[in-house]
Amino acid sequence: MRDKAAALAALQARIAPCRRCVEAGLLAAANPVAGARGPANAWLMLIGQAPGRLSVQRGIPFGGPGGVVLDRWLTRAGFPPNYLRSGTYLTALTRCFPGKAASGKGDRAPSPAEIALCRPWLEAEFALIDPRVVLPIGQMAIRAFLGPGLLERFVGEVIERDNRLWVPLPHPSGVSRWLNDPIHQAQVDRALAALSALRERFMPKQWAES
Ligand code: SF4
Repeated sequence: MRDKAAALAALQARIAPCRRCVEAGLLAAANPVAGARGPANAWLMLIGQAPGRLSVQRGIPFGGPGGVVLDRWLTRAGFPPNYLRSGTYLTALTRCFPGKAASGKGDRAPSPAEIALCRPWLEAEFALIDPRVVLPIGQMAIRAFLGPGLLERFVGEVIERDNRLWVPLPHPSGVSRWLNDPIHQAQVDRALAALSALRERFMPKQWAES
């Protein structure tokens, strides 16, 4: 485990100075330290879209209101308090804040070129952490790993792929209106029930007893 933690620290030290998107003219500034965090032996990995402004300010992934909702969802799935921050590896399709959307509503979605430039970092995290269960958060992360389709098709399903179990969830941001529909809320309930069963199966014993 110590070797794995050291390897993860070395990987994050390589990611921290990354300026690929700036050099490609896609971003004005890079701030990858806010993009990923978590234990090297995590069995559960969350993949978001990209860090927001609060994540950059606080230096943690899912550092804004979306993280609070995710934490609440994990609690509903029976996880111990603060498991989002202490037991889960949090990462994203890209590791730098893309800026605000031109519409002024929410953050700009990272472009396919940014996602492609950042993908090797994500693959390196996958190779190192080797999570048993992955939660792709939001349409972009779901599409990047599980293919195209509306959230309605994916949320509530457990999909086995690449020797891992994937439990897609919607983006928890208040900007998304998808969650306002009671039918969609029921899909989230199904996803959290499935996640609860996976927690019982995979979460290390010391957490279950804490
Ligand atoms: S988004 Fe990823 S690839 Fe682009 S500069 Fe940031 S860390 Fe590097």
